[in-house]
Amino acid sequence: MTAPIERFDQLDLQAPILAALAEIGYETPSPIQAACIPHLLAGHDILGEAQTGTGKTAAFALPALDRVDISKRNPQVLVLAPTRELAIQVSEAFQRYASKMPGFHVLPIYGGQSMVVQLRQLQRGAHVVVGTPGRVMDHIERKSLNLDGLSTLVLDEADEMLRMGFIDDVEWILQHLPAERQTALFSATMPDAIRRVAHRYLRDPKEVKIKAATATVSTIRQRFLQIAGAHKLDALTRILEVEDDFDAAIVFVRTKTATVELAEKLEARGYAAACLNGDMTQQLRERVIEQLKNKTLDIVVATDVAARGIDVPRVSHVINFDIPYDTEAYVHRIGRTGRAGRAGNAILFVAPRETHLLRQIERATRQPIELLKLPSREAVADKRVAAFRQQVAEVLESEDLSFFVDVIAGMEAQHDTEIHEIAAALAFLAQKDRPLQMPETGRPDIAQLASGKPEARAPRDAREAREPRENRGEILERRRDYAEGRLARYRIDVGREHMASPKDIVGAIANEAGIESRFIGQINLFEDYSTVELPSDLSNDTIQILRRARVRQQPLNLRLASPEEAARERGRPGPGGRGAPPKKPFRKEGGFDRPGGDFKSRKPKP
Ligand code: AMP
Repeated sequence: MTAPIERFDQLDLQAPILAALAEIGYETPSPIQAACIPHLLAGHDILGEAQTGTGKTAAFALPALDRVDISKRNPQVLVLAPTRELAIQVSEAFQRYASKMPGFHVLPIYGGQSMVVQLRQLQRGAHVVVGTPGRVMDHIERKSLNLDGLSTLVLDEADEMLRMGFIDDVEWILQHLPAERQTALFSATMPDAIRRVAHRYLRDPKEVKIKAATATVSTIRQRFLQIAGAHKLDALTRILEVEDDFDAAIVFVRTKTATVELAEKLEARGYAAACLNGDMTQQLRERVIEQLKNKTLDIVVATDVAARGIDVPRVSHVINFDIPYDTEAYVHRIGRTGRAGRAGNAILFVAPRETHLLRQIERATRQPIELLKLPSREAVADKRVAAFRQQVAEVLESEDLSFFVDVIAGMEAQHDTEIHEIAAALAFLAQKDRPLQMPETGRPDIAQLASGKPEARAPRDAREAREPRENRGEILERRRDYAEGRLARYRIDVGREHMASPKDIVGAIANEAGIESRFIGQINLFEDYSTVELPSDLSNDTIQILRRARVRQQPLNLRLASPEEAARERGRPGPGGRGAPPKKPFRKEGGFDRPGGDFKSRKPKP
């Protein structure tokens, strides 16, 4: 048996790909990647049973990129995906993994996008095309997509394509491709129809299935929290604060970069936290574990590999900040708590799109994972007050306070102030660094956003479920919010020339930053940029997330609009400047500025 693959540089990938992975911060190949990449690099076909979230995109994208000849501009890799969202996501992944391959082009093509634009883009050439079956078929028929030089075909989420009725289109495409090619088929499940396709069109494929471990430890209480990425840090600190039996935690994230970033953020919030990742020397890692043991540290933010085998009995909590790739990783992670016969807690953060992974873990471990109800701001305040009272009671009991009694008596006499007012002033001073009340942000409490019902509050895709809106009252209320500074106008670098629609923009903002659509105000589209009204007190984290978020492959690069920009499309003075008349934006009074404004016709959320 060969040794397990633990690092990407054990795979025979080209240096620019390894450099991109190092920059992204992936530490170790996920199981599906370790299993597939060597076969694909060796030229075999693959039949892979894997879901989204397992890292399957990189499992096929990395070896596919490895074979691409940049000097040729014809499509060499074709990926078929069931939905436009997946096609875009996969294209973006290719782009990231190829960031050190200058001149590389990937093109997503899907129905609903303008044919003219697609034809132009196809003419310019692309090394990788990622498309939905119908549109790919269209282009093959029109001869606008020449696949003569194709060397790799990937069928992604094949069972979804079957479920959505695309299987005939997929077969038609398969019959129009060069016979000399490599084919990889990925599917979350393997119904007979998919096996038949695999049997017919794959050549002696290597079958890859990630086995599910089943044993978990019954002394571990397992809970999950449905939460969008942007709120995870707040949710984590709130959990750490209110868990009764908290002593120490290991927090799991996916990348080395994330271990460093999250540990720094926790430190900044006053926690004794440190990171643990594969970039650290063995000596440093051992020191971190030692510090966790001797209580110098309470929280260690780790990747799977770095935390393997940690045995520190005081770890009361394992937090899966990023969901693990598979059940096996989950079982390993949560096994870091509940050690030496103690009770342990495992908490899993599940982003709206990851619900299927939660169900998969439950199925494989044959244990239900309970819903965690995030405590409200008020509950946190109650908890802090109770702890404060307890501290005061202990001091009253154990300390000799006579000197302080005299000081207070002096103050009472001098200021003619009631004793409880002096006590309140002292309480205020005592809690100043760590206020007893949670600050009012004007935004909904994350306890409400982190609803227990998967996908009820945070729709799978905000584009699919939006409440009807735009009645006059709402418009006026938003105007007022804007005037009073609760809403601000931000600029983003996508506009009409990128084929962006307000729907896309709302979808990206809601999904990436977890901002509910009712907090997203007017959007105005211009040629090469747009503006959007959002709460004026967006946190730095949220702004960073929205800088990087993409619509139609374009990074939003979100920033506050200048007063001129803000005023311009309102056609009236903005905060601090006079506005020029709008330069023909797509705009509807107070609303989403799509001609035909299709949000109105959306069904309300269930
Ligand atoms: P996928 O299953 O392809 O949709 O990937 C799920 C997520 O895992 C994506 O956000 C990837 O960026 C991330 N990911 C994939 N491979 C790795 C890896 N080896 N290390 C860390 N994160 C990864």
